Amino acid sequence: METLEAGGSVERRVVHAVCSHDCPDSCGVLVTVETQTDANGVKSERAVKIAGDPKHPITRGFLCGKVAKYLDRVYSPERLLYPMRRKKGAAKESRAGITVFERISWDEALDEIAARLEAIAAEWGPESILPYSYAGTIGKLGFGSMDRRFFHRLGASQLDRTICSEAGGVALKSVYGAKLGTPTEDFAHAGLVIAWGANIHGNNIHLWPFVEEARRKGARLVVIDPYRTRTAAVADEHLPIRPGTDGMLALAMMHVIFAEGLEDREYMAACTVGGEELRAHALKAEHAPERAAEITGIDAETIRRLAREYAKAGREGSRPAAIRLNYGTQRSENGGTTVRAVCMLPLITGAWKYAGGGLQLSTSGGFPWNSAALEMPELMEASELGRRARVVNMSRLGHALTELGSSTDDGPPVKALFVYNSNPAAVAPNQNAVLRGMTREDLFTVVHEQFFTDTAAYADIVLPATTFLETKDVQGAYGHFYIQMSNQAVAPLGEARNNTWLFRELAKRMGFMEPCFADSDDALIDQAMATDDAKFAGITREQLEQEGHLPVGLPKDASGRVLPFSDASWFGTASARGGLTPVPVYMPPAESRGGAAAKDGRFPLEFLGRKADNYMNTTFANLPAHQKMEAARAGMLEMHPSDAAARGIGNGDAVEVFNGRGLVRLKALVDGVVPEGVVAARLGWNGLATADAVGADGHAVNVNALTSERLTDMGGGATFYSVLVEVRKAQAAS
Ligand code: SF4
Repeated sequence: METLEAGGSVERRVVHAVCSHDCPDSCGVLVTVETQTDANGVKSERAVKIAGDPKHPITRGFLCGKVAKYLDRVYSPERLLYPMRRKKGAAKESRAGITVFERISWDEALDEIAARLEAIAAEWGPESILPYSYAGTIGKLGFGSMDRRFFHRLGASQLDRTICSEAGGVALKSVYGAKLGTPTEDFAHAGLVIAWGANIHGNNIHLWPFVEEARRKGARLVVIDPYRTRTAAVADEHLPIRPGTDGMLALAMMHVIFAEGLEDREYMAACTVGGEELRAHALKAEHAPERAAEITGIDAETIRRLAREYAKAGREGSRPAAIRLNYGTQRSENGGTTVRAVCMLPLITGAWKYAGGGLQLSTSGGFPWNSAALEMPELMEASELGRRARVVNMSRLGHALTELGSSTDDGPPVKALFVYNSNPAAVAPNQNAVLRGMTREDLFTVVHEQFFTDTAAYADIVLPATTFLETKDVQGAYGHFYIQMSNQAVAPLGEARNNTWLFRELAKRMGFMEPCFADSDDALIDQAMATDDAKFAGITREQLEQEGHLPVGLPKDASGRVLPFSDASWFGTASARGGLTPVPVYMPPAESRGGAAAKDGRFPLEFLGRKADNYMNTTFANLPAHQKMEAARAGMLEMHPSDAAARGIGNGDAVEVFNGRGLVRLKALVDGVVPEGVVAARLGWNGLATADAVGADGHAVNVNALTSERLTDMGGGATFYSVLVEVRKAQAAS
């Protein structure tokens, strides 16, 4: 404790928290909190420093550029600090802004929400109420606990949370039966790292030191990505593959491996089923490197060389091959098949046998949460519905808000939308349809948020939400194997409240009497961790509160190493082996140069609506420091020189990017980060990328004005990277 000259004192403490943003790294965070007591004994507290936990084996003491400045975000003057209601008569319009809202108390807000939901449920049935949330926080309680109980008890429509990773997750599980992968630390032992659709520098930065360690020992880093990402720019080799053709590349690699006898037959016999069928399929002429080269844009000799290098890694004392696969590869209609094909590669070569070999897409299967206890789906039976509610796919929100209910089979139209942990007005595909839905005057919309987002602009009631510094939660990861406790560092700012508090209070207002609605956050954490699974054996909440992080209990070999899928005991499939059937059959996405939608030639360019390096989807996109880091490429359409020249477009020209769903105005940036036939622009808040990003209906829009509601082949995921467009020079204003 320090004594202040003006009287009073100041005390500092360090609190262990966890970054809850949707990132594989789930960093351990140390928050320094200063409590000042003035001469009159009045206390005030503030977080004054945030840093990566040096004791966390993956965080290793540093945070990414997005979160290193997090206190600017927590204490931003733009934080929402109290509930608000749209003023009577004010239209739902994106540019009207916060001025059409008036401050109300929490009591008024909760009473009004409860009354409106009750009235809507009575008139239209409870399924006319749609919750909409995703991974704005990936803390276990914040992501899904009391909120799910509330909506289940209400009988609201269930939301199928497909927008990000579902196709890949379902695909991974179909091959391995578990969402596990190479431990992050073990990438340091690899001799070949393939970053497949993985921008490690942009959104998995804590893997990078292990990749660099491997490279210092002689490893090669190969990046397979249509876009020259920051990672590709510093790799040993960048293969600019055409969007949506990764599955064909994987099949061509298998073709070479089987044709040259490079597969690991012993491992395949012990750990896989369907090997012979896959071999026959891969060896078909259509998967020969020359044929694959025509489809992928990667020349045949490069495919052969990569396949040989990949298959031979780990043999004869050499160091193994590790693939870091990421979710961009599964955001096409063939995304599930693509992930299945790539995931089969280490099963053919036996790369799993070696420390530093294998593949990582997600490690979330290392955390056997008791989600059923947290979410209590059985509460639907106690709702007015008395049965399981219908399921609405979040990747088709535009359809849900504009078309659902028009057929008698659909159930009721959506009459209330309750948004938390998400910004669907900006991140959902087919944005013009989403915004048409959100402007419906007969739609009652509640948004629980930290900032006045694009979605908040369409709300009837806006509620202030906490950041991860202001609440307690427990968290796993999808990029490492450490469970962590995020202790509350500071009191909620203003009147901000966390998700569990919000839905507890609403449950009271709705008269839900079940005792589960009174569970405290600690009780919820205990319930989430209550499992017989050995991975959580011996780990308690109290221990986590003290330690911050603990490794989950994964099986170890005789040398104490964790080697996922090195033997058959690891597989969770019905066959208890790696599943190589059904064989992955390559189909071009409809909206790709090889797909059906390209045939009429109206929209000849493949469009990538990419994640910005310095934002997390749209989170951080409103902050000046982050905008500054993105300034060089925000509002730009990145083009290949030949595509620009063919359209008479020069660097810096204003352009219109369009297809049958929408139009976005951007500026051309012709600098070779995309291959011929591909154009790219970055996701941000609507209208922020450029002052005149306006959609067909006059709303501010972003790149999602161009994306479609087509779904992936597995998991019903969004297909953000199967989009065809045309580009023209913008007409000068007359
Ligand atoms: S966004 Fe990812 S890398 Fe950045 S601090 Fe959070 S978990 Fe770590």
